[in-house]
Amino acid sequence: MVDLTHYSGAVIDRAAERRTDETWVAARLADPESRFIPVWRGHSLINDLGTTDAVLLTGAEARGFIDHATVAPILLGMMNGHALFAIDISYLDDSEAALLGGDGHFAELYGVATQLVRDEASLLSHAAWLVQWAQKHHHCGTCGRPTAPAHAGHLRRCTDETCGALHFPRTDPAVIVLVEHQERCLLARQRGWTGRLHSCLAGFVEPGEAAEEAVVREVIEEAGVHVHDVRFHATQPWPYPCSLMIGFFAQANDSTINMGDDELAEAAWYSRDDLRSADLDIELPRHDSIARRLIDDWVARG
Ligand SMILES: [Zn+2]
Repeated sequence: MVDLTHYSGAVIDRAAERRTDETWVAARLADPESRFIPVWRGHSLINDLGTTDAVLLTGAEARGFIDHATVAPILLGMMNGHALFAIDISYLDDSEAALLGGDGHFAELYGVATQLVRDEASLLSHAAWLVQWAQKHHHCGTCGRPTAPAHAGHLRRCTDETCGALHFPRTDPAVIVLVEHQERCLLARQRGWTGRLHSCLAGFVEPGEAAEEAVVREVIEEAGVHVHDVRFHATQPWPYPCSLMIGFFAQANDSTINMGDDELAEAAWYSRDDLRSADLDIELPRHDSIARRLIDDWVARG
């Protein structure tokens, strides 16, 4: 069994092998049993009557929006035998979106994600991720001509026959690492973070770089700490907007910290007892983040 992080582990079958069958996709779009996740200007539709839940529209509820959407519906997959699509309704104005919301409301996923069960956070993340990608790829990055969706929205193809470039959804790999030295771990606060929030060090993987190399580089750049024994732990899709966080543990060569590139405001070493203490004077990352997962798993090990 894979040990899942928040935003992963959706209950859908992605049905990747069926996306290319346009007849099948059209039939799913017309099927009254299909369901639709609306995305409005990057916001997800949430019902907060008692518990916080994702709202799925029926085919009848979604019908009018499908015809007007600037991004064609994107097939997320099959759930309980029925198709599930993401639809972009960003063209609605504020009052129209509020009306559609009914008993719920459109909210930024980041603001409500910790209140959602993992499966629903995963579905809303998946929908918002693909819609924002499609919105930003109406034109070909090679020749500038318009693109058109294919494979039920999972591919955009340049409409210029000579060019014909294919554009696929974007995922940006980033590393995040809990650095350890003699039973203490390194946590830091970035400049610009409010309050006392401290977290693991993180950064994007650069072109031509292995994730393990990015770990070594980022820790040196940010904290001046040299690490070895870089060990993979878990990954997490992080939809703000399109990262794949790759989580590691690493051992520091020594405990000297030299904050280098002005990214960090504070950095220090914390023992397991420090992190378990009621008197801990720093704030730990959100429970939906892989940063918190790395910290919690490290604390539980000792
Ligand atoms: Zn092109």
